[in-house]
Amino acid sequence: MTDIWKPISRVAEEENRDWLLRANCMGVDPELFFPERGASTREAKEVCRGCVVRDECLDYAISRNEKFGIWGGLSERERRKVRRVRLGAGPVPVRVSSAAS
Ligand code: SF4
Repeated sequence: MTDIWKPISRVAEEENRDWLLRANCMGVDPELFFPERGASTREAKEVCRGCVVRDECLDYAISRNEKFGIWGGLSERERRKVRRVRLGAGPVPVRVSSAAS
């Protein structure tokens, strides 16, 4: 049986984790979001597609400079691009839907 609370372990305890309770990845094996180097990220991104807390997830990962895994539907490389845009664009938010491939 899958432990539905496993995704919460990805988020530090000191953070507000309420948004995770609405996450599409609740009940999904967290390993899916940390594929081996060069392995497909498609399955994880499919889970993220349509997740109602995608923006919160992406903000969390970017704010903590998460180096590994899929967060907010984006890989580490994709998050670096969003981070660069945000740093250059100042407070103007970048929507996940326009940054995802
Ligand atoms: S965007 Fe993906 S990883 Fe983030 S909470 Fe939603 S389903 Fe989970």
